[in-house]
Amino acid sequence: MPASPEPTNPAAVIEVENLFKAYKTVQAVDGITFSIPRGRIVGLLGGNGAGKTTTIGMIMGLVSPSSGRISVLGHDMARERHAVLHRMNFESPYVDMPHRLTVRQNLTVFGMLYGVARLGERIARLAAELALGDFLDRRAGQLSAGQKTRVALAKALINDPEVLLLDEPTASLDPDTADWVRGHIERYRADHDGTILLASHNMGEVERLCDDVIMMKQGRIVDRGSPAALLARYGRDDLEEVFLDIARDRRGPIGA
Ligand code: ATP
Repeated sequence: MPASPEPTNPAAVIEVENLFKAYKTVQAVDGITFSIPRGRIVGLLGGNGAGKTTTIGMIMGLVSPSSGRISVLGHDMARERHAVLHRMNFESPYVDMPHRLTVRQNLTVFGMLYGVARLGERIARLAAELALGDFLDRRAGQLSAGQKTRVALAKALINDPEVLLLDEPTASLDPDTADWVRGHIERYRADHDGTILLASHNMGEVERLCDDVIMMKQGRIVDRGSPAALLARYGRDDLEEVFLDIARDRRGPIGA
């Protein structure tokens, strides 16, 4: 097997270069480039259809890019995906689990796929941390939306991933559970030095969790910076206003 090329930026855990994805009539991702260093939580923001889920799908290897390069932990995802998949995981409300299996059975299947050692203990610990105990032996098809989201997060953490891709991790959670899940993500990053890419429509969540934000529009990256830098650049007090400025072409960066 040929040696993998050195990543352009050796400190980067996720590197995306000139990435495109076209469906028949839609240019879903239109030439994006970014990198994420270890231990960072980066928010992927943009209106409906901006290309966030497609981007996450391509990084995970679930969607094949039309062109461009993705490297994770120094491995080219087109050629060496299997060398790195066990060190990554993802959560998306759009990926459903087999309905007839119980939560415990689902987590067991995913844990076995990832080759998790002492799987029973791992599931018990996750069930305690994410308060799944009440429905661990219930069929996945019988869960409420919020319970499903918690199980999806447990599935995403089953292999203690170094790289975590989260697609709207608090969608359909009540405010209390959402706050608790955000706390869990913060602790996870701190305990594991985890690198997290998080798509979200919740600006409060992004301001709380993210070191850096990538703003997408129509498949392109239109701005990037820390939440504080974006607020300063657009002269706004909250990120929702910045989001609306960009989404509606209402106002560009100050001085631009
Ligand atoms: P949302 O905030 O609504 O979840 P998103 O930013 O995640 O949006 P994507 O799901 O990545 O957006 O979709 C980007 C574009 O690609 C949209 O126009 C969408 O309709 C299109 N698209 C996504 N998946 C497919 C597919 N399988 N076939 C055709 N078009 C697709």
